[in-house]
Amino acid sequence: MMQHEPKMRKLIDGAAKFGLGLTPGQVEQLQVYYEELVSWNQRINLTAITDYEQVQIKHFLDSLSVALVVEMAGGRSKFRLLDVGSGAGLPGIPLKIVFPEVKLMLLDSTAKKTAFLGYLIDRLELDEVEVLTGRAEHIAHQGDYRQRFNLVVSRAVGRLATIAELTLPFCQIGGIFVALKKGHIDGEIIEALRPINILGGKLREVKKVELEELEGRRLVIVDKVSSTPQLYPRRPGVPQRRPL
Ligand code: SAM
Repeated sequence: MMQHEPKMRKLIDGAAKFGLGLTPGQVEQLQVYYEELVSWNQRINLTAITDYEQVQIKHFLDSLSVALVVEMAGGRSKFRLLDVGSGAGLPGIPLKIVFPEVKLMLLDSTAKKTAFLGYLIDRLELDEVEVLTGRAEHIAHQGDYRQRFNLVVSRAVGRLATIAELTLPFCQIGGIFVALKKGHIDGEIIEALRPINILGGKLREVKKVELEELEGRRLVIVDKVSSTPQLYPRRPGVPQRRPL
């Protein structure tokens, strides 16, 4: 494996601008994550981005932009975080590395990706992480998971109206759902307002990520204010085909 010195420099500098000081141990974990991601990516399709600097910025730093909301959701105390459609572990794993106290669940419907996640968690020696293979439309109806999380995050899983249906049912009342978005999202937000409402959410804020490296990124922050009706999420594929 190629040596990169100093390790994770772009990430360390960017994280500092978010007010996050990474420990040498955390930097090492993120370095190992990078190496395993690139290695597994030769066998299974995990990411189109493999360049060392680009992974630091577009994957790791982008994931850590949620740090601000982590503080809102309970700060550095134990709380339950869920990443819906986690893929190769983004944004969930970088957040767990930086906030080791959180209890994390990673959910993805693709078994090959969750196999990678299971391996990675052992390799990084992360504890209190659960990996689940399945569709959000099914898992959100299970009592152990429904309305049980303080913070639910999701990146690149679909339009806001669709992911609201896949995520808000997992959020406990008083909890927060955050969608990591980029580009022009005004239309998406407008079309999601009614669905968010139906699902028991209330749009709090669309927050611009104030970092040159992450130009155009937004965090859509939604408060869970009332119970999600039992009807939701609807059957697999329906939230995507027929958004509320
Ligand atoms: N969040 C990761 C990221 O930002 O790199 C992965 C994004 S990838 C484009 C979308 C992921 O969502 C895929 O791994 C897919 O298997 C998963 N996914 C899509 N629909 C899902 C559903 N209904 N339930 C669970 N996972 C789903």
